[in-house]
Amino acid sequence: MRIDVVSIFPEYLAALDLSLIGKARQDGLLQLQVHDLRDFTTDRHRTVDDTPYGGGAGMVMKPEPWAQALESLVASPESDTPAVASRVVDQVSAGERVETQLETPQPAAARPILIVPSPAGEVFNQALAYELALEDHLVFACGRYEGIDERVLEWAAEHFRVRPVSLGDYVLNGGEVAVLAMVEAVGRLVPGVVGNPESLVEESHSDGLLEYPVYTKPSDWRGRGIPEVLLSGNHAKIARHRRDEQVRRTAERRPDLIAALDPEMLDKADRATLSTLGYTITPTQVQPATPMSGVAAEATRHTP
Ligand code: SAM
Repeated sequence: MRIDVVSIFPEYLAALDLSLIGKARQDGLLQLQVHDLRDFTTDRHRTVDDTPYGGGAGMVMKPEPWAQALESLVASPESDTPAVASRVVDQVSAGERVETQLETPQPAAARPILIVPSPAGEVFNQALAYELALEDHLVFACGRYEGIDERVLEWAAEHFRVRPVSLGDYVLNGGEVAVLAMVEAVGRLVPGVVGNPESLVEESHSDGLLEYPVYTKPSDWRGRGIPEVLLSGNHAKIARHRRDEQVRRTAERRPDLIAALDPEMLDKADRATLSTLGYTITPTQVQPATPMSGVAAEATRHTP
């Protein structure tokens, strides 16, 4: 998979050299490049922002550096239009102002995805991570200040499949932290990046439930034990125990996820666990009970 990230703080993305994502880059599973937006400016001060039309606080990212940066990526030497690409790059590096139009826009479905981190975007989740992991080329445009001039997104839709994506309902100072999270979540789903693909199957959010609690040695630690069944060697019983714990934990911490479940995927034991917790199961929905405090509920369990 090819990933390009454009930012005014390329150093922020240095963490993508580390751990599994760093190794995947070394192994060639991820061709990840970080680009400095200021390299696509043409003035002496390498200006990327200006005051907002209509007034108000803060600055807005100027459209032209973004257009230049994104054009260089959509038509980079690795893509279908090398002549246009090298012309854009040469002119920008020579400090010329260019208004190059890409000559051969790709059909919509073949265009790279442009992810624009934004608190006003669709909220990122595991389903979107799976969807993006199937793509060949992702481009991330890290905003700063009050964000990017809106016309960039309109223009970019002619060359990319544009997706404004939010990390959650809060405001960060820039898109870089969101990109670190998204690249890690997507990158680990690319085949070969995580050594044991089994570990991706049972994770939180892979089947609409949170993961069960996990334990390691010693079995008795500071007076706290582990559920006996985990020492039994009975794989069927262990699987049942883990599933019950998934259902219980999700019901306690994320009633919204339980409410989104298809009742048909719940077996008899799942239904019994949910009924005990006060949930009502109809043929079409699972109706949450009044949610109890997840942390408090969790703390009362597994204490010998
Ligand atoms: N004025 C913007 C608003 O209220 O929607 C917020 C701008 S924020 C200070 C600067 C940049 O941080 C945004 O352009 C975006 O790239 C990034 N950002 C902030 N919060 C984010 C979030 N929850 N998810 C993804 N990116 C975010």
